[in-house]
Amino acid sequence: MTTIRLVRGDITRESVDAIVNAANSSLLGGGGVDGAIHRRGGPAILDECRKLRASRYGKGLSTGQAVATTAGELDARWVIHTVGPVYQVSGSDPSLLASCYRESLRVADELGARTVAFPAISTGVYRWPMDDAARIAVETVRSTPTAVEEVRFVLFDDRAYEAFDRQLH
Ligand code: ADP
Repeated sequence: MTTIRLVRGDITRESVDAIVNAANSSLLGGGGVDGAIHRRGGPAILDECRKLRASRYGKGLSTGQAVATTAGELDARWVIHTVGPVYQVSGSDPSLLASCYRESLRVADELGARTVAFPAISTGVYRWPMDDAARIAVETVRSTPTAVEEVRFVLFDDRAYEAFDRQLH
């Protein structure tokens, strides 16, 4: 059984085996949680991202996929980078957002991570409505077989925290 915990705060302050990054497909950094992870984690993370670009991901990481690097100076062993879908009012595919959580857990299992922290993927610049994103996140984690013992959703503000809390209770 995987325990789900909610924390309100900055994911770069968490002490876990793996911190999930809401990256963009370039893997070369961006704003929001991505920027915060690279700032606090230091240059080792970007170095490894650049190497991944040069070797396996010349065209970038596809939406819904996940890949791990070192966590640099963060209090974690790995950062798992995943690319959330951009929300479009005209129609967005929830299975791509679910895939971010599922693929990140698959990578976490490959690494042997037992504690994993997730941000609310796609709910910032990518504009996915918070309640729907929270439902997809919680349902996907609950229905994905994994050896991860604790999934910690680290929510940056009250609005995100409350949305996830409603899904759990
Ligand atoms: P995306 O491009 O996937 O939307 P963002 O980084 O813009 O990614 O936002 C994803 C979520 O992460 C948003 O809810 C945002 O408030 C939150 N966020 C931003 N910085 C942090 C942080 N340091 N720790 C945890 N969550 C964060």
